[in-house]
Amino acid sequence: MIYADNAATTKLSFEAYKAMKPFLLEQYGNPSQPYSFSRKSRNAIQEARRIIADCIGASPEEIIFTSGGTESDNWAIKGIALKNNFIGEIITSEIEHHAVLNSCSLIETQGMEITKIGVDGFAEISESELENHIGNKTKLVSLMFANNEVGTIEPIKKLCDVAHKHNVIFHTDAVQALGHFPIDVKNLGVDMLSASAHKCNGPRGIGFLYKKRELDIPSYMSGGSQEYGMRAGTENVASIVAMAQALKMNCSEIENNAKYLIGLESLLFGILNEAKIDYCKNGSNNRIPGNISLSFRGFEGEMLLHRLDLMGICVSTGSACDSKETQISHVLKAMNLSEEYAKGTIRISISKDNTEADIRKIATSIIKIINCKIQ
Ligand code: PLP
Repeated sequence: MIYADNAATTKLSFEAYKAMKPFLLEQYGNPSQPYSFSRKSRNAIQEARRIIADCIGASPEEIIFTSGGTESDNWAIKGIALKNNFIGEIITSEIEHHAVLNSCSLIETQGMEITKIGVDGFAEISESELENHIGNKTKLVSLMFANNEVGTIEPIKKLCDVAHKHNVIFHTDAVQALGHFPIDVKNLGVDMLSASAHKCNGPRGIGFLYKKRELDIPSYMSGGSQEYGMRAGTENVASIVAMAQALKMNCSEIENNAKYLIGLESLLFGILNEAKIDYCKNGSNNRIPGNISLSFRGFEGEMLLHRLDLMGICVSTGSACDSKETQISHVLKAMNLSEEYAKGTIRISISKDNTEADIRKIATSIIKIINCKIQ
């Protein structure tokens, strides 16, 4: 099996697995309990918080653990809506993940105004577009760091500067970027950032919300006083520890991994080009390395996915969460990609675990499928 769907989820790293194991089998004390057996769990959480904060240039108390990217996005958006009694506007973009878009739809039913700004053909969000829409009633701007379907990296610092010029809070969904692209929250200036462990070799079901110390939002879960009283519920110690381990490793390898993945991408494009395959490469040149969205004219993405599956290759159509739908994804629509190409879109998302042999197999399998239909 060749796994090339790393934007959907990644393999747990062995180091992360090793780090979490003692907290599943031996150190199972509830971190909130005062006895010494629980102290190890409590200390492990604090150490993980410090490691994660270091990875993004934050302070430890600015990291609040959540169940993943979806929860962090929900919290950031609904938190600001609640704080403002659902009065005012939230600006987001047309290409956000459904965790953001559906959170926005929900608060819209409660009275909040939602404005979705468009993107260009490369899925880039422009500062001028944000500047044109932002105003006195805007309470939050929520724009993604990197798009999950096409990999485009957005100009987050510039977009954040526009929001701050108007005294508006800025949130970014960095689920696809964390561990793949350097992030320094202080340099960017963002007020909130959503992250998930399973996109960078950590376990599924764990993530965090970075929240600037000065920013006050309502807690998301009501209950105990865990996570500075911001997110109640007994902590998932093992997963928190594993997330820190995975993130530390991924962040230290970003540059090397990027070089390696860009090399593999070139190999793939080279083989497809040599075979004179008619395809269109989606997203901007400034993409998350290894996130490759390709559209084949006259084909169905779902058919390509299933044919590749039969050949032992896992890819995705559009984004993983949308993979059962055959319609053109909201991202490709926003990019205005022509229908004849958009329908035949697959996302190949490779990782450091993929080899040149994998890429050759993926490329030759695609060529086989395309040429077979054409003949
Ligand atoms: N945001 C983006 C950009 C994503 O790609 C995803 C997952 O696909 C999420 C949010 C949701 O993250 P999680 O699976 O951790 O809930």
